Amino acid sequence: MLTKDTAICISAVDYSETSQIVTFFARAAGKISAIAKGSKRPKSAFDGTIEIFSYGKIVFSDSNKEKLATLTEFEFAYGSAGFTGLSNNLFTMNCCLFSAELLNKFTHDYDPHPQLFDDFLQFLQNAQENKGKHQMLALLILFQLGLLKEVGLRPVLNACANCKIRDDIRKRGMMDERQKTRDEFYFSSSANGLICRDCEGAFPDRIRLTETAADCLANLKLIAESQEKTLIEIETVLVHHFTELLGRKPKMAKYILTL
Ligand SMILES: [Zn+2]
Repeated sequence: MLTKDTAICISAVDYSETSQIVTFFARAAGKISAIAKGSKRPKSAFDGTIEIFSYGKIVFSDSNKEKLATLTEFEFAYGSAGFTGLSNNLFTMNCCLFSAELLNKFTHDYDPHPQLFDDFLQFLQNAQENKGKHQMLALLILFQLGLLKEVGLRPVLNACANCKIRDDIRKRGMMDERQKTRDEFYFSSSANGLICRDCEGAFPDRIRLTETAADCLANLKLIAESQEKTLIEIETVLVHHFTELLGRKPKMAKYILTL
């Protein structure tokens, strides 16, 4: 059976002199891996060699979901441009490659996530506009938090993940000084979220957060406006969290946190 879909390539490796194995994140089908026979030939059914972040219409046969699908058609969404502008900026490119790696690791074959597809497409479109490092990092953090939510791993960020007591972070200004010193926030991967001072002892994997970083995580609207050092702090926590969830550090992480 032939299936049509709209998809973004999240991995492409050479299979032979003329063929590739490509992984697409498709809007309706979810993640699919397929063999693109003859894609590297000058004349093929695929608008040329398929590269990472190629975006367009695909047709594939998926008669047996245990095996690789066969890609029968690929047509770029607009001309042959795709997201070629991404490679003009190394940091931007690395952020996009990191997102693709996480998307690949945290989704399953044939498990549809149309919202996540739209988020990823928007993320690439924003990245293509050649944002500065600071803005790119903010986009990456928001994409990563969106990804966790879409795959059912949304961290608890507006209350203690353990005792569920709301931190009332935004009411902090009304507290007296003695209470203020008790306001300490931690992130724990095993608790899947923020942890209050009363609970932190039970989570040896906790990481202490600055007040600003905790505020940003509790109110994501603050992310775009926050300082670069706060964004780096949050991204460091997220990389730690992804490492815990995956059992090893994502490959692209070291290219992001060298700012
Ligand atoms: Zn607590």
